[in-house]
Amino acid sequence: MATATLFVASSLGNYCFSQSNYDAKFKDFPTYSGEDLEMTVDNSGTHFRLWSPEASEAIVNIYDHGTGGQPISSLSMKYNPENGTWTASSPQQLYGKFYTFRILHNGKWLNETPGVWAKAVGVNGKRAAIIDFASTNPEGWENDRGPMVDNFSDVIVYEMHHRDMSMHPSSGITNKGKFIALTEEGTTTPSGQKTGIDHLKELGITHVHILPSYDYNSVDEANLQQNVYNWGYDPQNYNAPEGSYSTNPANPAARVSEMKQMIKSLHDAGIGVIMDVVYNHTAENDGSNFSLTAPGYYYRHREDGSYSDASGCGNETASDLQQMQDYIVNSVKYWADEYHIDGFRFDLMAIHDTETMNRVAKELKEINPSIFVYGEGWTAGDSPLAPERRALKENVSKMTDIAVFSDDLRDAVKGHYTNAADRGFATGKPGLEETIKIGIVAATEHPQVDYSKGNNSKFAYASSPEMIVNYVSCHDDLSLTDKLHHSMEGEPEENMLEAAKLAQTIVFTSQGTPFMFAGEEIFRDKKGVHNSYNSPDSINAIDWSNKDKYHDQFDYYKGLVALRKAHPAFRMTSAQDIAKNLVFDKIDSSKTPNLISYSLKNHANGDSAEEIKVVFNGASNPQTVKIPKGNWQIVAQDGKINPEEGLGSTKGGNITLAPYSALILTR
Ligand code: CA
Repeated sequence: MATATLFVASSLGNYCFSQSNYDAKFKDFPTYSGEDLEMTVDNSGTHFRLWSPEASEAIVNIYDHGTGGQPISSLSMKYNPENGTWTASSPQQLYGKFYTFRILHNGKWLNETPGVWAKAVGVNGKRAAIIDFASTNPEGWENDRGPMVDNFSDVIVYEMHHRDMSMHPSSGITNKGKFIALTEEGTTTPSGQKTGIDHLKELGITHVHILPSYDYNSVDEANLQQNVYNWGYDPQNYNAPEGSYSTNPANPAARVSEMKQMIKSLHDAGIGVIMDVVYNHTAENDGSNFSLTAPGYYYRHREDGSYSDASGCGNETASDLQQMQDYIVNSVKYWADEYHIDGFRFDLMAIHDTETMNRVAKELKEINPSIFVYGEGWTAGDSPLAPERRALKENVSKMTDIAVFSDDLRDAVKGHYTNAADRGFATGKPGLEETIKIGIVAATEHPQVDYSKGNNSKFAYASSPEMIVNYVSCHDDLSLTDKLHHSMEGEPEENMLEAAKLAQTIVFTSQGTPFMFAGEEIFRDKKGVHNSYNSPDSINAIDWSNKDKYHDQFDYYKGLVALRKAHPAFRMTSAQDIAKNLVFDKIDSSKTPNLISYSLKNHANGDSAEEIKVVFNGASNPQTVKIPKGNWQIVAQDGKINPEEGLGSTKGGNITLAPYSALILTR
């Protein structure tokens, strides 16, 4: 969520504010990060431990049900001043029961809360549930694991929302909008085109990135027949799956078990699962589980005690405080351990500090070295956190094993996101060539790239290509298709389809990790709605009958995936290799704009090809380039691609590129 680099370090000047006196006291709170926080069950019974250093009393209520009814018992908790936690125990294993905490704070009993560590919840996440997690594991779970990843530049990300993938009648999927939609094999459109997980296998992507799948606030799980849609950037319970994606939100084990089934199916297909996480803010302020367990602590505030709001959603969390940093680290570790999650995409990552993000990556690596962590290297508003501490795009080189989205490439390829009519390099707008080159070299230092001409960033901010995720669109803003409809209005659709291919070719051939938005391989649109976070399925669901209509588009995208897999030269792992092996051809952009040509030389990164020539023509007219003499195989030309068998050969010389097209040759 949120696209903008509204506040970057370089533009902040005197405007940033620093940690308020209001927040100063929190630094001295005792902290506790043990894995037994809130609720555990063992042979001696059920044990509760709530972190709440300012409470003057605390209780646990035990219930028979996830909603309604009176507590069947209430346990008083005892304070442990050395670590700020309150504890109580029951001699029984309370499987099947539910619980909430209540604290007395400043003389007032606050509302009930399931706590911040509820790992299973009842309907709408109001009460935590006590379940036996071993019973939620699908068969073979003990041997389940995601794909091994040697280098993050080998990953190909496909960003999807559960409902978008399966809700449309043309999906042929039975469990529409559910986690288990992706466990259904053999699903097709009415005409027999593969959908669902079979479609993902056919396309060849390596990882799906699922939009928020923790328990969020906006969809009433007790009234699913209303078919309410939301992206899910409104966190409620960070450590339990969202109920509306389960077949029975009232059964706390169902959402856990069904999410695991989905992950197992994807892993069995060789596909990793990356989860979108939104620790930067919560749906509610005073009513959030953070506020009801430790009022004030987990958030940043202004001097007057009001919530600061770098998220643009009413509050921002405080990763710079120990208990919150531990919380984020332990929460992602929990998802990696319990759900075998293969990566995390951090929403508005720059609200967090670089130290927290470094700990996240380091501790996740200890669980599974293949885990990929990336995020939005910006905030949506100013923050009390000092700019140099923020996990900003510009600070990515201060982090290890963390990648950021390149808005440089995104805005330069298709035109700026704030102006629907604005065109980009791939749709004929001149003057963006240097910014495209910044994207091609993954924002690393390169002798032929002049960063002073960059549109978004003015310096080589990445010290490694593994720090960069390239994309032209995601769930935010206009989809690529809608952007092309707006910016190329009046041109035939054929031109838009060619421009879409070119745009995605730039993403897939650039150094760094490519990322695509689900459905764009079949020219999916969102009917012109840019902020479709709560738009109905009629806007958001992918119409899979497009796979018939735009099958040529699908084949091209499939070819791009195959191209990248076949050629490690597109996946170099160091800035030094890129500077040495990637050589731009001299083109005077003032005379021939929208034309970029470069070579990947020296069997780069162990490539079978001695040299790969890549040429982009983003102009609305044909343009001619002179290719050196040689025995070249044609891999892509004029809107066609075939990395396996090629499209023929050429001896070099003058080659003319069709409007909005890429030429790729190997020798
Ligand atoms: Ca929910």
